[in-house]
Amino acid sequence: TQTVTGTTVRTTCPYCGVGCGVLANATADGTVAITGDPAHPANRGRLCSKGTALGETLDLDGRLLHPEIAGKRVSWDEATRAVADTFSRTIAEHGPDAVAFYVSGQILTEDYAIANKLMKGFIGTANIDTNSRLCMASSVAGHTRAFGTDTVPGCYEDLEEADLVVLVGSNTAWCHPVLFQRLMAARDARANLAIVVIDPRRTATATFADLHLPLAPGSDVALFNGLLAHLHDAGALDQDYIAAHTEGFEAALEQAHETGLEGACALTGLDAPALRRFYDLFARTERVVTVYSQGVNQSTSGSDKVNAILNCHLATGRIGRPGMGPFSVTGQPNAMGGREVGGLANQLACHMELENPAHRAIVQSVWRAPVIADKPGLKAVDMFRAVADGRIRAIWIMGTNPVDSLPEADLVRRALEACPFVVVSDVMHDTDTTQVADVLLPAAGWGEKDGTVTNSARQISRQRAFLAPAGEARPDWRIIRDVAHAMGFEEAFDYAGPADIFREHARLSTEKNDGTRDFDIGACADITNDAYATLEPFQWPRPAGRSDGAPTRFFAQGGFYTPRRRARFIATPPKQSASTPNDAFPLVLNTGRIRDHWHTMTRTAKSPRLSRHIAEPFIEIHPKDAEYFDIRPASLVRVANRYGAAVVRALVSNAARPGAVFVPFHWAGQWAANARINALVTGHTDPVSGQPETKSAAVSIRPF
Ligand code: SF4
Repeated sequence: TQTVTGTTVRTTCPYCGVGCGVLANATADGTVAITGDPAHPANRGRLCSKGTALGETLDLDGRLLHPEIAGKRVSWDEATRAVADTFSRTIAEHGPDAVAFYVSGQILTEDYAIANKLMKGFIGTANIDTNSRLCMASSVAGHTRAFGTDTVPGCYEDLEEADLVVLVGSNTAWCHPVLFQRLMAARDARANLAIVVIDPRRTATATFADLHLPLAPGSDVALFNGLLAHLHDAGALDQDYIAAHTEGFEAALEQAHETGLEGACALTGLDAPALRRFYDLFARTERVVTVYSQGVNQSTSGSDKVNAILNCHLATGRIGRPGMGPFSVTGQPNAMGGREVGGLANQLACHMELENPAHRAIVQSVWRAPVIADKPGLKAVDMFRAVADGRIRAIWIMGTNPVDSLPEADLVRRALEACPFVVVSDVMHDTDTTQVADVLLPAAGWGEKDGTVTNSARQISRQRAFLAPAGEARPDWRIIRDVAHAMGFEEAFDYAGPADIFREHARLSTEKNDGTRDFDIGACADITNDAYATLEPFQWPRPAGRSDGAPTRFFAQGGFYTPRRRARFIATPPKQSASTPNDAFPLVLNTGRIRDHWHTMTRTAKSPRLSRHIAEPFIEIHPKDAEYFDIRPASLVRVANRYGAAVVRALVSNAARPGAVFVPFHWAGQWAANARINALVTGHTDPVSGQPETKSAAVSIRPF
């Protein structure tokens, strides 16, 4: 790729799961002008602060420009050969389960697809997992349990067409800002659109709500069980839908009544009038959308929380119709694309199942693969524990910084330091993870590579290159292809570009798909290179023969993907968080994002105006707790538990819930080495989804 100057290139934002369309215009003086794409269906020209500042994050400062082995610059041939030989030797000596890939919701669908193919179809293990495990694995598990597959039933327009939008564990105003802008615009246009926010903190989003329910951390299941019982008592259920399209309702209802309003009050800490107000509003409003995000997913009962929400929508038949449905919003730009290619250790490609022999046969045949993994691999937290205890002896980390972003971050660092072979492909030279790599591979960054991403609303969009790659950087798909070739897998990896990979992905989605699989983009199975280059954003499914762009929804008339084509209610008994406060560690730590930084700040820290919003790491703490622990506003605070410690600035605020504190996870490494808050997050995971509980760790605090 050469830098394209003077021409506007249509691409998509690399940050959150809203997936906004971006117009990028590189000029001869090296600057890049960024505006929102008015023709993109996700944002219709809008951008948030992060998207607007993209042009300020593209300089070469800190970029990884050349391959390195043991800190020394080498050629691509040497680096590729070292990776291929060491992986091949490790597999020969210790078996395929001794190697792993840890990938990222930042990489493009084509990158994800080829990494998944190499691992599951050629190396022969499912030891590939992704940082999306930390983001939305509980939604995947909840969807799959209820619907039989990982389907987001609705579309963004539903938020605008609803009369009630319930935002659960989602600081949408900061974490999905353009979606929030769309919601605010809809409310401006229709005064009867009510917004309820369910969140322990009074977030920026909560300040816009008609009703904010500051529930106790982790108590969402009780709240939604209470809602289901109330809907039943109020006669608000859709008995015809339940009878025609679902199973397991009685057990879920029995569990809901067991919790009831009394249990919901006791476990959430909310009073009965506040809960009743929400329950009544939900019961009498037909058009309801429930949006849920990390506050639901990042929990040891994350899957149950998702299913408790889905139960309420299934029981009222409010799903898949305009302005109605449950709606999971993902954190990363391509979390959904990763799910579609099977980038999680318990998935196969194109929403097919590892445990299903017919699905394995389809994938193996289209991939032209010699083997196919037939059992789930290690999920993120377990993967790094396996590195720690020596079961995994070679790992390739792509586009992510687990030494800062995974729970038990200190253990992750020690594990990688002791691992015999660590490969990191990244755009940046100096992250906490690149420091522990044996081989560094320079990856092309946003604006330097081509491919597709899928946003939270199933919209597939192109990311397009408009800059020459930095130094010797290469796109991830090409790096993986070349390693596959060097491992002896030339024929099945004969891709000349991302369009070849996308075509194969589309062919696989439609192969032997008789309507029993939701993900079908068969209309792209024979897409030409030119058509791929100019591909307009579209929402899947798009089977062969379909070309219109109208929003699609699932399940209004049933048609679920379970064996009996019925949705499954799941009985969800409320459970305590795995990490509860005690005398030694009396506060609950919640972690999350702020408005203007992204992940471990490798990109957003380059923009001074983004850093101006919030300049340093902080702990949000209620005034009563501040007084009790002798913390003065703006003083430094030491937060600690038995896993680690961090030092951050006190933000004393009524926005916090008494007994709970919030610390953003962005600052780490070169930005604030003593604020690596993920060192304090425990590795407790949801037993169904494997997602870690990054919203709840018991900690102590004291003045620093
Ligand atoms: Fe980018 Fe998300 Fe902001 Fe859109 S809302 S511009 S995708 S960060």
